[in-house]
Amino acid sequence: LNIYIAGAGSMGCRFGYQLAKANNKVTLLDEWEEHITAIQSKGLSITGDQEDNIDIPIMKPEEADQSADLIILFTKAMQLPSMLQNIEHIMNEDTKVLCLLNGLGHLEEIQKYVPRENILMGVTIWTAQLESPGKVKLSGQGGINLQSVEKTGETFGKDLINIFNEANLNAEYDQDVWPSIWRKVCVNGTMNSTCALMDANISEVFSSSHGYNLVEKLISEFVQVAAKENVHLDADEMYDYVVSASKKVGDHYPSMHQDLIQNKRLTEIDYINGAIVKIAQKYNLETPYCEMMTELIHLKEDILL
Ligand code: NAD
Repeated sequence: LNIYIAGAGSMGCRFGYQLAKANNKVTLLDEWEEHITAIQSKGLSITGDQEDNIDIPIMKPEEADQSADLIILFTKAMQLPSMLQNIEHIMNEDTKVLCLLNGLGHLEEIQKYVPRENILMGVTIWTAQLESPGKVKLSGQGGINLQSVEKTGETFGKDLINIFNEANLNAEYDQDVWPSIWRKVCVNGTMNSTCALMDANISEVFSSSHGYNLVEKLISEFVQVAAKENVHLDADEMYDYVVSASKKVGDHYPSMHQDLIQNKRLTEIDYINGAIVKIAQKYNLETPYCEMMTELIHLKEDILL
């Protein structure tokens, strides 16, 4: 298969690295000049659980000139529309496109360019961190759940599971991936936005009863809106999950904190809490907590950036 990774930041590099090591033909596509130049001149450096360096092709999307069999999307959510436009020329009628971005609303965007039977949606709990251009830190274990949007795409979806598992990416075909996607959005929409706004790590948020209250209110909005979209999330189970995760990774600053506070970059808030507000409006539901979090994060973006 001719595999392209569209958006080769920390996660795109993780997937690109592991797939290339398992002898797949992989090309990274990215827009960040410094990162492209670093990988072209010195290779992709891996640090963390293991040290490695590999030669892997990377270029701007508009420079790609071979037809793609599979494109794995790994931009930040707000970069997705322009990336889709820039890779349209390497898609043919059989090109499969897998989306593993965090957040909601991506399927609607991808459908503008790709027939539904070629789209696969998923969620991953792998992590990765860019240390500097061309250098990615990989630590810990993870997994992938994915599903084809249409039943006709299931055979390819299952083939893809084998490809990922040969690359030790620990993938599973999911007969209903949407609850898993929403669960992750809910975790991100409670912890990421709160930690970014409070400039706090997870255990600091849970050092106060106000942190618990806020998390509970946010979860209840996610659960209500999910139900309207026919996705079942259990509020008590979500709450226990978030609280118990906080005990394991208490000293962690979630990615929105890293983006906004540490690296002064825009956040994915419109695709997390903001997406809940937007979906709720379709059903005349009020989601004041998500709305406030979205406004506050945008305000902080305007102040800092
Ligand atoms: P990332 O920010 O590392 O990379 C996304 C894009 O931004 C890439 O094109 C990258 O080159 C560019 N970029 C990164 N730093 C830049 C800089 N300083 N200047 C200019 N451009 C820069 O994003 P990611 O962490 O790989 O996330 C991709 C998607 O996967 C997101 O939807 C994210 O929420 C999701 N996700 C991330 C993780 C994680 O651990 N990083 C885990 C699961 C899901």
